[in-house]
Amino acid sequence: MSGVGAAQWPSKGSRQAALLARLDIHRPEDLILHLPLRYEDETRLTPVARVQPGTSAQIEAEVLSCENTRPRRQLLVHLRDDTGSEIIARWINFYPSLQKQLAPGRRVRLFGEVRGGFFGVEMVHPRLRLVDKGEPLPRALTPVYPTTAGLGQPTLRRLLDVALDAVPLDDPLPSTIRQQLALPGFAEAIHTLHRPPPDTDAHMLATREHPAWRRIKFEELLVQQLSLRRAYNARRAHEAVCLPPRRTLTRALHERLPFVLTSAQQRVLDEIAADLAAPHPMQRLLQGDVGSGKTVVAAFAMLQAAENGWQAALMAPTEILAEQHYRKLATWLDPLGIGITWLSGGRRKRERESELARLESGECLLAVGTHALIETPVNLPRLALAIIDEQHRFGVRQRLALRNKGTAGVRPHMLMMSATPIPRTLAMTHYADLDVSTLDELPPGRAPIHTRLASATRRTEIIARLKAACLEGRQAYWVCPLIEESEALQLKTALETWETLKEALPELRVGLIHGRLRAEEKTAVMAAFAAGELHVLVATTVIEVGVDVPRASLMVIEHAERFGLAQLHQLRGRVGRGTAQSSCVLLYEPPLSRAARARLKVIFEHNDGFAIAREDLRIRGPGEFIGARQSGLPLLRYADLERDGYLIEPAREAAAELLADDPAAAGKLLARWLDGREGLLRA
Ligand code: ADP
Ligand code: MG
Repeated sequence: MSGVGAAQWPSKGSRQAALLARLDIHRPEDLILHLPLRYEDETRLTPVARVQPGTSAQIEAEVLSCENTRPRRQLLVHLRDDTGSEIIARWINFYPSLQKQLAPGRRVRLFGEVRGGFFGVEMVHPRLRLVDKGEPLPRALTPVYPTTAGLGQPTLRRLLDVALDAVPLDDPLPSTIRQQLALPGFAEAIHTLHRPPPDTDAHMLATREHPAWRRIKFEELLVQQLSLRRAYNARRAHEAVCLPPRRTLTRALHERLPFVLTSAQQRVLDEIAADLAAPHPMQRLLQGDVGSGKTVVAAFAMLQAAENGWQAALMAPTEILAEQHYRKLATWLDPLGIGITWLSGGRRKRERESELARLESGECLLAVGTHALIETPVNLPRLALAIIDEQHRFGVRQRLALRNKGTAGVRPHMLMMSATPIPRTLAMTHYADLDVSTLDELPPGRAPIHTRLASATRRTEIIARLKAACLEGRQAYWVCPLIEESEALQLKTALETWETLKEALPELRVGLIHGRLRAEEKTAVMAAFAAGELHVLVATTVIEVGVDVPRASLMVIEHAERFGLAQLHQLRGRVGRGTAQSSCVLLYEPPLSRAARARLKVIFEHNDGFAIAREDLRIRGPGEFIGARQSGLPLLRYADLERDGYLIEPAREAAAELLADDPAAAGKLLARWLDGREGLLRA
């Protein structure tokens, strides 16, 4: 703690500067936006006779006695206030100096929670202030800040004095916007929150509904919108290849597809087709629940590139998925006379090299692959469209790496696909730098999946039912437990499960798939399962995303309690892809933790990915929910997407207005909140 005298902003490299940096406070401006966690009311004294056990209060009283009790070392202090009521204060850990301070006859103010103790009301470890009779009370609520060890509240408050003196609190927000939402000015809001005037409504401050809070939350949302909007505009300023729909190849695919596109697929395709025809890069997120038919949308987009003589690449997170995409696309595209290739780490070197050559020469226009697309020295000289399937499984860097595969200077159009739908509030905030297309309709004829929860004690019964169903010609996945700590252990469990099931089901053919198999082995197993040659497929989470075997209609997930919500929904989405009634059994190991029970309940009650995503967001909060994407994103500190959702739309409108009419004001707001800390995503 610094001594008395004029406080000043800690110098670079000092201990205090390092402590502040831990709170992400680097400049006085940052401290101004470091707002109280809560407030304590030291403006009033409560007579001891009227304190309510279970609440916090401030009392003023005189010490009657102060003893150091044995055998348990405790400082036990008896006090009496001016109305003659008595109270006990207790310290369990204390410095000897405390006992000296609390000599009989001393007058003190104690602030803390009051409890009903054995000997009457008492306070344990109250905050203590020695006072003289008649000493005035503070007139304002006392703010309590989030802090870190070694940086006390008094220090923070003193530094705030410095910051409030040093930083001009001008208000770049146009008064029209302020008036519409009845927001106070910036300076007024900041003063209210750091130094609440005596008449401030303490309840509204505590619940963060006070207009001063509203102003800050709005400004935070506005800055987020500004920053995302600016990134969006910057990307649009780049040039991309115009890929107008020529309908030579896409029409041919339309005619050959064994099904009719849903109207949602058609609408989304129109949105994408229009983007591809524009001279600046598309940045679109295609979200659609598991099974909504995103792959065929990708195929049409790729063909639109090909019919213009340009290349398109589709990247998927697993080998199984990449190969499946390849096979599906090849059956659709080969008859059109258009070549497609696939790349994965598992392919033989010689094969890979000839494929690479075909891509490099531009002879082959379409590529599907895993990370191998960005890792190996792949050259896609005419890359004009990059599609990322299951985009949440990739990091920002990987997405950028795929984008950079094209010729320097030409930015490919980007389409990100995701089966983890983003709740509307998140789409409007954290994903506002993307255009979003939504498949809100499943192909016709899908029967909802019947989900059941069963304790692992009923395993034998479940196996018997599985057997009966498979003997009737159904196919099943048996998903092995996720063991996050150890891949080796996970593999061992999978092998054991496979052995057990083979033994229990001698009449059935049981296959096994896991991440450690060689690529050809995986291919062979998936092909056998897809062809109906295997009844049961024992699988690790390698099948979590994308795998599409419409005939499989049963799934058992072991240790379902270990999986996250999105993961369970994805896994379950491997069934229910055909017209047969599908079911999914979630086996859990009792006893269940509260969190696990909540997750399983959500999966049990909901089939709709949007509803599940909303629950997931509610349970985990946006930071966790967004996961890999968060790197470089300013997360919200004050605005709460659920409670303050009504501010998002106005913030969005205000952002558009400011960027158009008053870019200088927008710049000031961005500098105040972000100070150049805008992340990778902006690239
Ligand atoms: P996802 O959106 O989960 O990636 P897929 O693209 O794997 O879904 O599609 C799921 C299944 O539905 C596939 O077998 C696909 O061929 C099929 N499908 C896609 N669109 C339609 C449609 N309009 N009508 C019928 N089946 C469709
Ligand atoms: Mg898919």
